[in-house]
Amino acid sequence: MRTVSRIRKSERSPRRGCLIHPSSFLPQAPHLPFSFHAQPDPLNTVPLFCPCSSVLVRVRPCLIAPPPCGSSRLRTPRSRLSFSSFILHPFIPHTPNPKPQTPDPHYDREPLLRPDLLELIRHATSTGLRAVISTNGTLISPDKARELKDLNLSYVGVSLDGTEPVNDKFRGIPGAYARAMAGIRACRQAGLKVGLRFTINRRNVGEIPAIFKILIEEDIPRACFYHLVYAGRGSALIEEALELPRARQAVEQIIDLTADLHRRGMPKEILTVDNHCDGPFLYLRLLREDPARAAQVLELLQYNGGNSSGVGIACVSWDGAVHPDQFWRHLTLGNVRERKFGDIWTDKDNALLMMIKEKKRHVTGRCARCKWLDICAGNFRVRAEAVTGDLWASDPACYLTDEEIGIL
Ligand code: SF4
Repeated sequence: MRTVSRIRKSERSPRRGCLIHPSSFLPQAPHLPFSFHAQPDPLNTVPLFCPCSSVLVRVRPCLIAPPPCGSSRLRTPRSRLSFSSFILHPFIPHTPNPKPQTPDPHYDREPLLRPDLLELIRHATSTGLRAVISTNGTLISPDKARELKDLNLSYVGVSLDGTEPVNDKFRGIPGAYARAMAGIRACRQAGLKVGLRFTINRRNVGEIPAIFKILIEEDIPRACFYHLVYAGRGSALIEEALELPRARQAVEQIIDLTADLHRRGMPKEILTVDNHCDGPFLYLRLLREDPARAAQVLELLQYNGGNSSGVGIACVSWDGAVHPDQFWRHLTLGNVRERKFGDIWTDKDNALLMMIKEKKRHVTGRCARCKWLDICAGNFRVRAEAVTGDLWASDPACYLTDEEIGIL
């Protein structure tokens, strides 16, 4: 079996763990349509992309249920910028600060609840940004899908936690699955690219094959499988995380199912996200199965560089606060209502930010000695901190053995 990970420069982000692309089995791998955006920001930072938010704006957790992601720990908003200001400030220089608007505790939990979402997308795309949204999908009517398509929205990621009974139980709302699927179909009818977002946890790991089945039955071109990222000491999400052997098994299963799709002539994009040890894991498997391809993959992984929190991705909250990534909400680097994003992002007086930008020099433990450090970059610092209290400790979600990381 041949598998491959293809990661373009434009896809560099902390969310890009590993892309297993069936069409990459072909001699000439085609263009991968999903990418981060061309940006007017001279600092070449990427706009935010995270669960339950639009690609340019970090909004609050999914309305339909508490998702198993960092979003569920968000604070109550104090005050907020207008929706478009999130775009204007961090990513377009020389824009005057807007006045904060009155917080709305509801519509920022799901992008489609925002009355100014279309305005935001219009502004983003008109300035050359590539806009995508992550949504529970339940509010995408055929008319809404057409509107989004007309605004050149590039992609809609719809969160699903499995088949109908599992999803609805998980989300606590009967009918959530049916409404999400209706939204997916509306997107497809409108010609909008749509994909599934599945966050792997103890309660739904058995649903992975079902997600692949849904991809086939509904002719959905893409699925992203997210590892859990828990942040903050005592995070309840830690309890939802898979044991390491099970996480490894899940990734193995995703690779197997992706290869099977390819063999059956179904070119789907399958990504694993938020655990950068997936990269060396895939490489090591390829090394056994297709050494020539493995060499190409290693080159791509080196180019990607692993986790880029605080470097290649930024999170700007609804209130203008800037964070190193969407999970790192407990570290605020500044606020775009007070300073330009560029000034915040390059502030040499911020010692921690400077350390984050060079985190490979500061990680300790297994990560420090790991031979894959250059292609993983120590994975997620917030996970290390959540479990050990030490920001620079090894990422506890790494399932590679000591032998595999070269420390035995
Ligand atoms: S030990 Fe650390 S650097 Fe190495 S692969 Fe695992 S998480 Fe990444």
